[in-house]
Amino acid sequence: MADTPPPGRSPDQPADAASLPTGAGVPAVIENSVPAVQGTPAPIDVSARRLNEDEFDQPNPTLAGFAAGFGLTFSTMFKKVYTQQYPFEVFPTAPRYHGRHVLNRHPDGLEKCVGCELCAWACPADAIYVEGGDNTEEARFSPGERYGKVYQINYLRCIFCGLCIEACPTRSLTMSNEYELALDNRQDLIYTKEQLMAPLLPGMEAPPHPMRLGDEKAYYTPRPQKGAPQREANVAGKPITGHAIEVGGHHA
Ligand code: SF4
Ligand code: SF4
Repeated sequence: MADTPPPGRSPDQPADAASLPTGAGVPAVIENSVPAVQGTPAPIDVSARRLNEDEFDQPNPTLAGFAAGFGLTFSTMFKKVYTQQYPFEVFPTAPRYHGRHVLNRHPDGLEKCVGCELCAWACPADAIYVEGGDNTEEARFSPGERYGKVYQINYLRCIFCGLCIEACPTRSLTMSNEYELALDNRQDLIYTKEQLMAPLLPGMEAPPHPMRLGDEKAYYTPRPQKGAPQREANVAGKPITGHAIEVGGHHA
């Protein structure tokens, strides 16, 4: 006849070790699984952990204390509320705000990017993907040997730290003030080279074309540039989403 389980225990539930019978027929592992009581434990001295009230600041429920506490609250209540009605009103950002990137051009329209991948290596978020390509005399996109054949920035990863623009040796990559980058799908937040390229300004010619400014050295010798400053190129570069056409600045 099966044992009747004690109150509170189902027939399928194993008995705890303390309630198991001991003696002949009971495995030793069960018999020895209950540690023997080793005397009475020493009493814990709780007084050592009791908080010393003298160490704490006492509340100061005086009228002066209330006045000091609520003074700031009341003075704030009567200040003029400043609310920006975004997105209906868009205000300029700080001039050096880190926004969407721009791939810049030389004054003749050739691309400044030489496909070196330094920006991608500098990126802590692994947000940039670059594939370089070889320029030929028949198809030249930038001065020199190489150009950025594939260029992508993943704005799901980018943290707008600016390390990539610091790493760029040709000042091809800079950041605009455009910040309206929220979209409703992930794919469109991977910006391609075509989206990132600065637009052609008056006097510029769409690559591929030969070097119009002279030899390769002529492109990298600092000198005043003809035509509109690059800052205007960014402003003219209509971003996908935004208002930055009106407000954008650019730090090259
Ligand atoms: S701003 Fe920073 S996170 Fe964004 S692409 Fe450049 S290096 Fe990477
Ligand atoms: S953007 Fe600058 S750093 Fe990046 S691949 Fe082009 S030239 Fe090199």
